[in-house]
Amino acid sequence: MLNDYKGWTGSADELAGVLATLAPAYVPEVEPPSLRVVRDWRNKGIFSQPKQKPYGYRQVLEGVAALWWLSKKGWQSKVIVETLSALQDSDLVDFIKRMNLDDSGVAAAPVRDTRRQVRDANVAIELLARGIVRQYQYTVLGRHGIVRQTQPLGENGGIHKDLRLAMSKLSRLQVECRGEDHCACVHDVLSMAKAPVSSEGWGIDLVDQTDFEHKDIVLVDPVHSTPTRECQDLALMAAGGEIDLIEGRLHDQLRAIVGRSVLSPAEVYTAVRGFICRNPLVNLSVANAFMSRSGMNGLYKAFRDFYEELHEGMLIGGMAHKCVHCGALMRPRRGYPDGVCSVEPCFRSNPAKVGERLDPVRDKLFVAVPAVMAYWVTPAYDEIRIHDAAKAMGYVAELYPDEDACDVGINGQAVGIDAKNYASPTRLAKKLNGSIGRLRNYDTRIIAVSDHLVASRRDYVGVVRSELLKKGEPSTLRVMSVSDVIAWLRREVRNG
Ligand SMILES: [Zn+2]
Repeated sequence: MLNDYKGWTGSADELAGVLATLAPAYVPEVEPPSLRVVRDWRNKGIFSQPKQKPYGYRQVLEGVAALWWLSKKGWQSKVIVETLSALQDSDLVDFIKRMNLDDSGVAAAPVRDTRRQVRDANVAIELLARGIVRQYQYTVLGRHGIVRQTQPLGENGGIHKDLRLAMSKLSRLQVECRGEDHCACVHDVLSMAKAPVSSEGWGIDLVDQTDFEHKDIVLVDPVHSTPTRECQDLALMAAGGEIDLIEGRLHDQLRAIVGRSVLSPAEVYTAVRGFICRNPLVNLSVANAFMSRSGMNGLYKAFRDFYEELHEGMLIGGMAHKCVHCGALMRPRRGYPDGVCSVEPCFRSNPAKVGERLDPVRDKLFVAVPAVMAYWVTPAYDEIRIHDAAKAMGYVAELYPDEDACDVGINGQAVGIDAKNYASPTRLAKKLNGSIGRLRNYDTRIIAVSDHLVASRRDYVGVVRSELLKKGEPSTLRVMSVSDVIAWLRREVRNG
C-alpha cells in the first residue's frame, strides 16, 4: 500500500487526504492528522521537505510513523524529528511494516540508528559518572570534612551540570528505546545507577551492542550509596584527570596520621587501616583502647573522618547486630529478622548470622562512614580473607604493605595481590592497562576478583585477561578469583 505513493507529490491538503486513507491500515483507531495538524507538523520539522516545495513520498512515510509514535508511544515531536532524521526511506518502510507487530516498541529496534545511540550512551554514562562523583564530593564529603568542596554549587538547585546533561541525554535514549523516560528526577537516576547499565531498570536496549563499552558498569554502590571505584575511574578519564579522587583523599588523611607517629609510617598505615577494616562497627571503648596504643594516637584527631556515630535507625530491637563473618553492622531489611551484613561480598557469599549484639546505651557505637565502607571495608573482606589464609599456611603476609603498595604482600616482595570488585570486567582491564600501580614492585603480581562476581558471570576472568594489554606491565598480571588465589597459595606451599 505504501508503495502506491512512490513518486507521489501534493499539497498539504492532499497529504492530509493520503494520511486519512492510510491511517486505518497502519494506525487504527487514531484520528488522522487534519490540514491544520499537517501544517503544524511541518512547522515542527516532522515533515522534512523544504518550505515552498510540495509534499512527497517521504512525507507520507513520515506522517504514518509520526502518527504512530505520537498516539502509541506519546513521543514528543522533538524526539520524532530527531529519530526521523536518522532514518532512510527504506528504514521507514521497514519500520512502518513492523510497528504494530510488537506493541512494546521492540519492533522499532532494527531501524533505530543504533550506532549513534551507542555513541550517545557511552558519552552519557561517562558524563553521569563525572556528575555523580562531583555531586558526591560536594554534598556528602563536603559535610563530613574528608574532602573540601572542589566544585562550586551550581544553579538548578545544586545539581551538578554534568549530572543534568547526562540526565537529558539518557532521557532521550530511553524515549528512543522504550518510549518512556525515567530520568526526570535525580533521585531516580541515582537509584537506577545502583544496578548495571545493562539491567532492565535503565531502559536502554543496547545490551547486545559490542561497542556499548559501559554496559556492565555499576556507578553507585548499592549499599553505601557512594560512587563506585569504576565510577571514579570513568569520571577521572572523562574529566581528563582533574578530579580529586575520593579514595585518594582517604589515603591522604591516613598518611597525615602516619606522619605524626613515632613508629615507621608503613607500620602505622597497616595498623590503622587494618583496625578500621576489621572494626567497621566499633565500641568507643574498643576504639579508645586501640588509639591509646603506642604510635596510634594520631587517630584520635582524625577519628571522626573515618567513623560516625551509629544512627538509631540501624538498630534491631534496640541493639546493633554485628556480622559473625566480617564484624560489620547488619542493617535492618524486610524479610531478614537479624538484618543483612553491610559488606556486599560478605552477604553474597554467607548466610546472615549475628555474631554479637551491641547495646548503644552501655557503650557508644560508631560505624565507618560510607566512603570508608565502600573503598576500604568492602574490598577488605577479600583482602583479609587472603591475608589470614596465607598467614595460616605459614607465609609472611602483610596487609597494605609500604603504605598501600598493594592490598596483600606475601614473603616480602615475592607476591603482591590487589583485590578488585569492579562489576565491569572491561572497566577493570582498562584501569589496569592505565597503570598497575605499585604492584610492579612485586615479582608475582596477582589481581584477585571477588568470588561473587566470578560466580555471577562465568567469563569475567576471561574478559579481563583478553582485554589486558599483551605487552608491558599489564601483560605480567595474573587474574583469578579470590578462592583461586587461596588455592594457588596452598599449592605453592605444598610444592615448597
Ligand atoms: Zn559480614
